[in-house]
Amino acid sequence: MKYVRIEDKSGRISYGFLSGNTIRLADGSPFEGNMKENGKVVDTEDAKLLPPAPFSKAVCIGLNYRDHAEEFGLPIPETPVVFLKPSTSAAAAGDNIIYPEMCHRLDYEAELAVVIGKTAKNVSEEEALNYVLGYTIANDVTARDLQPKNGQWTIAKGFDTFMPIGPYISDEVDGSSLMITSRVNGETKQKSNTSNLIFKIPYLISYISHVMTLLPGDVISTGTPGGISGMQKGDVVEIEIEGLGILKNTIA
Ligand code: MG
Repeated sequence: MKYVRIEDKSGRISYGFLSGNTIRLADGSPFEGNMKENGKVVDTEDAKLLPPAPFSKAVCIGLNYRDHAEEFGLPIPETPVVFLKPSTSAAAAGDNIIYPEMCHRLDYEAELAVVIGKTAKNVSEEEALNYVLGYTIANDVTARDLQPKNGQWTIAKGFDTFMPIGPYISDEVDGSSLMITSRVNGETKQKSNTSNLIFKIPYLISYISHVMTLLPGDVISTGTPGGISGMQKGDVVEIEIEGLGILKNTIA
């Protein structure tokens, strides 16, 4: 299934199943286990995409690809580097990313995001994937110049619109081996595969769930490969992950 969350022309928000250019609308939600098709169908052109996972928190992993740690001259972490993005940082595919006034270097970070489907607390690595609804694309947008200034990353990573996710959630892919690419204005910037993750997805879910309860709709953004660089106002940033489509946003 490919899950989307949309606002239709009348302003009604609902979940739906995406196939090709049509969305079969549903009542309920995939995060409450009561999602059911209601017979209404809309064209993708007539629907405004919303972030497909209405997360209470985005749990993000830093330095989870060897080449990204190396480009900062940082050691490979022995335990996951974890930080949170607030729910207010969410943006949808097609939304603008707002370049903050206090930032002077704005970076993209292409990431595979794991979407939690069921409340997860103290889960083992073996059972971790049972708590996953599916996968989507995230852009861990970063005010790079503010990152070292603050000692920790909440300011640099937490601005409104700094967590575009989407366009949809798919349960049809295996997150352990997917091509991941980013482009700015059509020029390829990052190219890797999620098989290069240092800390793998089941480990991350288990580890984090032993610290904080993961709620349905929460996302774990698994880190970015090497090749980060800055963006300017007007730039179009696209992140493509095999089987998950393209997350496209404009800097404004
Ligand atoms: Mg990141």
